Amino acid sequence: MNMFDLNRLIRNNIKSLTPYSSARDEFKGDAAVFLDANENPFNEPVNRYPDPLQIKLKHQIANIKNTTPENIFLGNGSDEAIDLVIRAFCEPGKHNIVAIDPTYGMYKVCADINNVEYRKVPLTSEFEINPEALLEQTDENTRLVFVCSPNNPTSNSFRPDNIQKVIKSFDGIVVLDEAYIDFSSGKGFLPLLPEYPNLIIFQTFSKAWGMAGIRLGMAFADEKIISILNKIKYPYNINVLTMATAMKSLQNIRRKERWVAEILYQRSVLREELEKVPVVLKVFPSDANFLLIKVTQPREIYNYLVDNKIVVRDRSKVSLCEGCLRVTVGTANENNRLIKALLKYKE
Ligand SMILES: *Cc1c(COP(=O)(O)O)cnc(C)c1O
Repeated sequence: MNMFDLNRLIRNNIKSLTPYSSARDEFKGDAAVFLDANENPFNEPVNRYPDPLQIKLKHQIANIKNTTPENIFLGNGSDEAIDLVIRAFCEPGKHNIVAIDPTYGMYKVCADINNVEYRKVPLTSEFEINPEALLEQTDENTRLVFVCSPNNPTSNSFRPDNIQKVIKSFDGIVVLDEAYIDFSSGKGFLPLLPEYPNLIIFQTFSKAWGMAGIRLGMAFADEKIISILNKIKYPYNINVLTMATAMKSLQNIRRKERWVAEILYQRSVLREELEKVPVVLKVFPSDANFLLIKVTQPREIYNYLVDNKIVVRDRSKVSLCEGCLRVTVGTANENNRLIKALLKYKE
C-alpha cells in the first residue's frame, strides 16, 4: 500500500499562494443590481463574467456521473487540466513524470513546457501496461504517473487490475485519462474514485458529446485535489457560451447515447470492411472511436488518401506503431469513401 500524503506533493509556491479574488468570488449572493465588476450593462448575456466555479454546470455533470460538484474541475479542454496538474505538483527541473508509451502527445508537451522530466515506459507488445515496469521508473521525485485508457493511439483499454495496481502502489498522483470511456465496454474508474485519494480522472466533451469546438474538459478527483486546481486556474477559464452550450447538451443525454451507439456500430462495420482490404495487414482491437490499422506502406497510403481528400493520422513513426495509421470512425458515408479509396490503392 502507498503512503499517500497530498500535502507533501503540492509545490510550496502553490501551497502558499493567495489566489486572485474576483468580483464574482467576493460576492456570491443574488442581487438585482451588479455594479461590482466594471462590466458593460448592455449586451446580455455575454456582458457578464462567467461563474468562476461553474456551479450550475457542475451540478448537472455530477448528476449524470453520480458524483458531487466538489469532485469536479472543469477546464478549457483536458489540455488545461493536464497543464494545471503538472504546475500544481511538479517543481520544474526537479520533479518528474512517469508515463506509458505510446500515448497522447499532450502530456509530454506540457511536461516539456514546464521543464519537468518525462519518463516513458513502453507498453507490452500487446499494448498492455506493465505496472511493475511503470512503478520501477518512479523515484522519490516522481509526482505524477500518466495512464490513458482507452489509450490513444493504440485504441485498447488496459486491464483494470493492472491500472489498480499502479494506483494502489504509487504514493504520488495517478492521472487516468478516460477521454474515450463512452466508447468502451468497461465502466472506467469513476465509480471507484472515493476509494482512491491519489487518483485524478480526465474525461472530455470533445469526443462522445460531440463538442470539441467548445473546449470543455473534466477532471474528477478527491475534493482536496480539485480545490488546488481551482486555486491556480485562470479565474474565468470557462466562458459563458461554452457553459450554456454544455448545459443544453446535458439535458439531452439520449442524443449522446444515440451517437455513441451509431459510432460503435460503424466501428464494427469499418473493422469488417478494413479487414477485407489487401493493403491493410491488421486492425487492432478498439475500445474507442477510432481504429489503429497496420498497412503495407503507411506514408504512401497516407499521401494517396490525402490526394483523394481523405485525411487519417499517420502514426507509423510512433513507438510500437510501426506501419500504422489511425482512423477515426466517421459516418457510414465517410467510412465508405475511405474503404473505396483503399481498395483502389495500387502499390
Ligand atoms: C482527444 C483526447 C483528449 C481531449 O482533449 P480536449 O482538450 O478535452 O479536447 C484528451 N485525452 C486524450 C487521450 C485524447 O485523445
